[in-house]
Formats: sequence, C-alpha cells, structure tokens
Amino acid sequence: MKLLENNCPICGKIVNNYGLCSDCFDLINKDPVFYYNIDGLEDLIVSSTYSGIMRKLIIDFKFNGKLAYGEIISEIMIEKLLEKNLSSEVLTYVPMYKYKERERGYNQSKILAEDVAKKLDLKCEDVFEKAIDTKFQVGLKKHEREENLKDSFKVIKIPEEIIIVDDVITTGTTIRELTKIAKDSGVKKVTALIAATEIA
Ligand SMILES: [Zn+2]
Repeated sequence: MKLLENNCPICGKIVNNYGLCSDCFDLINKDPVFYYNIDGLEDLIVSSTYSGIMRKLIIDFKFNGKLAYGEIISEIMIEKLLEKNLSSEVLTYVPMYKYKERERGYNQSKILAEDVAKKLDLKCEDVFEKAIDTKFQVGLKKHEREENLKDSFKVIKIPEEIIIVDDVITTGTTIRELTKIAKDSGVKKVTALIAATEIA
C-alpha cells in the first residue's frame, strides 16, 4: 500500500498527515491577548491572532475555495476547547442570509462548527437564522455595525448551553448580538469559539 503524501499548505514540506508541518504549526500565535466586553457571554475562546499563517489559512478557506483548510483551522480551535469541561454544549455558528449562502455555496462558520463538533463528539445545530440581509460589516464603525446587525438574527432553537463558532472576531458586534438574543430567548450558557482575533 502506497502511503499518501501530503504537503504543508504553507511551505510545501511533505507531511505524514494532512495539515501543517510542525514548523508552520509552531509559528502560529496560539496565545492571543485580547479584550472584548460582551454582556452575557460566559467565555470567549480565541485560538489565534488574525495574522501570518492563520490569516493566510482563513483567507484561502473563506475566499479562495480551499474548504479543506477548515480541517486545519478547526484542529487548532479544539486545542483550547479541550481544556474546558464540556458536556452537553451544542455547537452552532454565525448564520448567513440564505441567498448569500447560496451565492457563496457554503458558510465558513458552519463548516468550522461542524468540524469542531465532529472532533469532540458534540452536536452541531442551527440555533440562529439570519432573517434580514445586511451590509458587509467591514469598513463600518462600531456603532454602525451595531445598527446594521440589530434585529437581523433570529433564534430558531433553544438548547441549554451553546458554543457559537466563527472564523474571525473584529469588534465583537456579531457575537454580542447573537449572545443577547440567545440569552433573551432562554439559552442558559453562551460561549464563543473563534479562530482568530483581528484586534490583538
Ligand atoms: Zn510548513
């Protein structure tokens, strides 16, 4: 049987298992310093900074069709989650407006949430729905982002404890809005798990 050869997507070095080589893996800052003040959020787990290798992986994953990189990103994301005591948490994700998702063909947050759930043997469910199409957040000021997203999400399922998964956190407006509507709907514990912070 021929062993499958893989290449590190960053430096091209041959690796045994699909993913980064250990040198590139070690170059990722897995201890980001950040501060977000989000009411009602039990815990905010951020795996890395949005820079260097992590930034390249996320951009290729999200915009350049390298969906398999979700496997690499989610592998990094579960490291910090494994340190927590998890039991009945349901993984969920930041939804996209359905026509936008159809246009892109996938929702990157959902792919990450499903990967993390699968690796940790937890459930992944649709907790939120994007009910209103909104402007792209990039370039908007914090208060404009809040105004833009206000009332655009809906809660469609109410598990006791959820972990919201997303790829990048910038101002935290999206997670703030989702946490608020989840708590208002009766979700008891809300945690967020994000691949990278843009403000660190
Ligand atoms: Zn490498």
